Amino acid sequence: MGKGLKYGLYCYCGREMMDKLVDRQEREPTSLKDAKLRNATVSIVRVHDYDYAQIYEAVKEGVELIGGLERVIRPGSRVFVKINHLPPPSPPEKGIVTHPVFAEAVLRLLKTFSDNVTVGDDIASDGADGFSISGFRQMCARVGVRLVNLREGGFVEVECNGHFLDKIYLSRIAMDADVIINLPKLKTHSLTVLTGGVKNMYGTIPSGLRTRFHGEYVKSEDFSQVLTDIFSAIRPQLTIMDGIVAMEGEGPASGGLRRLGVVLASQDAVALDAVVARMVGLNPMDIYTTRYCDERGLGVGNLDNIKVVGERLERVAVPDFRTPASATNLFIRRAPGFLPRLVTRQLSIRPRVIGRQCTGCRECEKICPAGAISVASKTARINPSLCIQCMCCHEACRFNAIVPRRSVMGMVVHLLGIFVNKLRSLSA
Ligand code: SF4
Ligand code: SF4
Repeated sequence: MGKGLKYGLYCYCGREMMDKLVDRQEREPTSLKDAKLRNATVSIVRVHDYDYAQIYEAVKEGVELIGGLERVIRPGSRVFVKINHLPPPSPPEKGIVTHPVFAEAVLRLLKTFSDNVTVGDDIASDGADGFSISGFRQMCARVGVRLVNLREGGFVEVECNGHFLDKIYLSRIAMDADVIINLPKLKTHSLTVLTGGVKNMYGTIPSGLRTRFHGEYVKSEDFSQVLTDIFSAIRPQLTIMDGIVAMEGEGPASGGLRRLGVVLASQDAVALDAVVARMVGLNPMDIYTTRYCDERGLGVGNLDNIKVVGERLERVAVPDFRTPASATNLFIRRAPGFLPRLVTRQLSIRPRVIGRQCTGCRECEKICPAGAISVASKTARINPSLCIQCMCCHEACRFNAIVPRRSVMGMVVHLLGIFVNKLRSLSA
């Protein structure tokens, strides 16, 4: 085991727990690892509200449009359902977690194929029961499926032969499943612009490593390579996205809610992310995870090779969807070569504390990988000379007290970027 990985595990669980949790045996990555995907199908079905009956029909239709569950699950398969349960805990109406009613519809459909269904994510467990706050605890009891916090099952070391990572620790529960069903939420992300099917698998590694990678791979390009490395080692067989009420602006925790009224499904999470990018007015290949996965044959990112079934993409497009500040960089990348270097410093996005909203809860201080945050007099303060702009604090603050901020110049370029993206999506 490399020193770095050991350190990550110590961060996560401490030396005493480490041997208990880590199975050193080498595990083969998923059987899909070597399959180069060239074509994909993504279904889009409209559903307007978190009404269980409507969502059940929409999910069923969406899955049938891409070939049906029988293509993915054999009777009795061990099925693991990876939800997005971003910490800290929040109720579903905040739009931060996969909605439990959406998950319920998927779970009940899965149960018609297999009784061996487990649902979960890796969540912080200090104090309150996060699954009760989101409603997942109650929903899973109602449906009769096992709900797990991934850290309780431990992690196994897996080779991933990635761009940065050659080994990674993945949830034992997820790796032991025959089938992984991925249920991301359609949201923006302050570092990667969008969070979707590929990024949702980041939650299958220990939280200590997640924090460490945020600190080590600060640039969106590098962090996206790490996400791609992880995705190469744990690919879901089916991704169904909750796009009923999405998050726009400064996601994944502090953005605004936007009703898009769609459920998307695909066996290819990369293709699904590509369709979502186009839907919200972005060029799919501008999203690094989509581009890197496409380049490595982990999925299809080129819309020319993706068949969209069900609702037409143009009919669900949202060209005025608000992208996060980091989307400025997408526009900069298309600028003449000298410009990016010249302006990148001025355009970099920095976290700012809104003092009146800060409760002094210290969640940001705990998660900051650079030790840049201190809390005094019930207000968080950020030391800019230590800050590496990873935006973990923005993700962690449940009171919307930390917001990404750009300079005036950054704002101008960002608005220009929105304008250009709008023109692109209108002409597509
Ligand atoms: S900024 Fe947010 S996370 Fe940090 S102490 Fe204040 S309320 Fe808590
Ligand atoms: S202050 Fe926030 S953005 Fe800066 S390093 Fe800490 S967590 Fe990352």
